[in-house]
Amino acid sequence: MNDSATIGVITPDDLDETAARIRLITMTRGERPGCPSCGIEFDEPRRGRLYAGKYVVCSCGVKSGAFSGTLFNGTTLDPQDLLYLLDRLTLDVPPAVIAMMTKAGCTPGTVYNWRNRLTAAGML
Ligand SMILES: [Zn+2]
Repeated sequence: MNDSATIGVITPDDLDETAARIRLITMTRGERPGCPSCGIEFDEPRRGRLYAGKYVVCSCGVKSGAFSGTLFNGTTLDPQDLLYLLDRLTLDVPPAVIAMMTKAGCTPGTVYNWRNRLTAAGML
């Protein structure tokens, strides 16, 4: 048991990677995500691949990933860190504290940048 578990603090390691990815996809692309290029709704196998963090090739030929076409596109943070960051920012936890807890070891500046991006997107 680590110190954070002892005092009951949730950390990114407490989150399931796939569950975190599904929550982020649902937040940004809805319950039934589709192709960011042609907009067609993905079938169950393609959604499964997306939720597993794999690339999906649409019938239109465009390859996309879990966060293609969203503000999370291109992030180097993993889904647990992203969801943790979003959740803690919602609770007004100071960015320096959030940064310390991330698996990736973000800087407070990275957290501030995400706070600005999420605020601009209306997610905070
Ligand atoms: Zn398509």
